[in-house]
Amino acid sequence: MQLIWISGSTAQVKKINITARTLIKAAAVVSFILILLGVGIHSLGFRVAIQYSPELAREIGGVITVQEKDAIETSYRARLHELQNQLTQLTERIVEMKALKDRFADLATPAPVKRLSPESGNKGGAYQPITFKLTPQKSLVDELDHALGNTSSIQQGVKNLENSWREQYEWLSQLPTGSPIQNQLGLSSNFGSRLDPFTNLLAQHPGIDFSAPSGTPIIASGNGTVTSLGYDAAYGNYLEISHSDGFVSKYAHAKKIHVQQGQTVKRGQIIAEVGSTGRSTGPHLHYEITHNGKHVNPMQFLISSNTQLAKK
Ligand SMILES: [Zn+2]
Repeated sequence: MQLIWISGSTAQVKKINITARTLIKAAAVVSFILILLGVGIHSLGFRVAIQYSPELAREIGGVITVQEKDAIETSYRARLHELQNQLTQLTERIVEMKALKDRFADLATPAPVKRLSPESGNKGGAYQPITFKLTPQKSLVDELDHALGNTSSIQQGVKNLENSWREQYEWLSQLPTGSPIQNQLGLSSNFGSRLDPFTNLLAQHPGIDFSAPSGTPIIASGNGTVTSLGYDAAYGNYLEISHSDGFVSKYAHAKKIHVQQGQTVKRGQIIAEVGSTGRSTGPHLHYEITHNGKHVNPMQFLISSNTQLAKK
């Protein structure tokens, strides 16, 4: 195609040859300029928007301004700080709970076995409270990681506390520290030397007696296993329970025995009935505790008994 251009009265004639190639070239150039223009306007608009209208900038480019970023970070830091304060308080509570637990365990542990306590050597070490501190020079992500790391140490502290409670409880449950008869009926603290009611001579009495009506339930004074039972001329119907740490409790003069040899029993479980079998002057429970084969005063193991009664 040929375009003929006549301009003004001078009648100058311009001839432009328009070929398909020229047209494509022109279109490409125009497109390129338009694209450049578009990008320029968009970029300029964006800059202006960021500067003067963050809301608009967010809409245009999904970004936030430095000031906004700082404001968000400050608000996150404030919350993190609050969280760290609470975590610090939590670790302090763990230490308080540990102290409370130790006091309870102390109350529940008879004096003669305190040194045997799993806690006595303080295995596992005391829990150290953690102080959470904000370090502004650290990045927020590092701060959060730090707080998370310490949180798992709090979890470990709680778990250790729980394990220590459980261990102490299990240990105490295995010891003959309970009463062998409900309400400690007719308890007489007569461990040691006394006049033998049969011979009227001074004799060793290796246990304590509970006088109670015939048939009164006799209960296990701690968790354990029935390791011996039968009839003896002196003890009458008797049974022995082996506990942990070399402790054995013995129950004598029973009317009836309700457990079998080798049976495991729990503290408080009914194991026999009060009677007057064997060398006995009336219905009563004769109760003994041995530690590694040696007789000990059961009064010192009755945690709920009045310690004033205990004879050394
Ligand atoms: Zn006795």
